[in-house]
Amino acid sequence: MAFLDVGQGDAALVTTPHGQQVLVDGGPSPSALTSALGQQMPFWDRSLDLVVMTHPDADHITGLVEVLDRYRVDGWLDNGRPDADAVYDQCMARLEEGAVTRQVVRAGDRLELGSGIVLEVLHPGSELVAATDADANNNSLVLRLAWGQASFLFTADIEAEAEHLLLASGQPLPSGVLKVAHHGSAGSSSAEFLAAVDPAYAVISVGADNRFGVGEDTYRKQINVRVDHNFSDAHRLHGSWSWERDDADNNFFQTPDGYGGIISGSP
Ligand SMILES: [Zn+2]
Repeated sequence: MAFLDVGQGDAALVTTPHGQQVLVDGGPSPSALTSALGQQMPFWDRSLDLVVMTHPDADHITGLVEVLDRYRVDGWLDNGRPDADAVYDQCMARLEEGAVTRQVVRAGDRLELGSGIVLEVLHPGSELVAATDADANNNSLVLRLAWGQASFLFTADIEAEAEHLLLASGQPLPSGVLKVAHHGSAGSSSAEFLAAVDPAYAVISVGADNRFGVGEDTYRKQINVRVDHNFSDAHRLHGSWSWERDDADNNFFQTPDGYGGIISGSP
């Protein structure tokens, strides 16, 4: 599992022990994404088993056009909500040209990735969210990856409305690692939602010099206040964040500058 260093946006690569590769979003920059993928994948590997487009915002999908041009993509997941965005159109055109299998998924759908690893879709439900201030964000695909003792919640850019729906849905939210929604911005990560997810670690993907003029420290403090355990050692990362499992089934993470920790031990 690697949260990729793509600047102000989101991209994560899941690589299972049997070599299944799933890319969740592609960040805002084709060059940043291909360079980050190049660090995670062998140079000869030019294929991805699955690409997930959580929602069609530029900071999540701009890199995906390049991925569809340069890699063989075997499958594609999205929420089925059309968008007027030009980059979205480019992605859809390439899916058609490349005869990529596209699947629209909703809450309740589950994908088995092998090795006992399951990717569960938690949101949106069968009815898309409408009439919120940010419908595109609130319809983001929310995914929970259950991998042995470790679990990861990918919240894309959902805001408070979608968080309330997730809480009300009764689906299991507790996860060891939370990819914090909407780059840590104040409209997401309500106290109730963070309490339900109860993560040991929270990852905020944000550009070092982001256009919103808010420093990483501010984002981190907001989350730090709300995730009150194990998060006192908030750490600024430069480069991709990766998670691995060792021979003794310990789950640990490591950053390029040597910071790391155990997510959970063997059962
Ligand atoms: Zn975003």
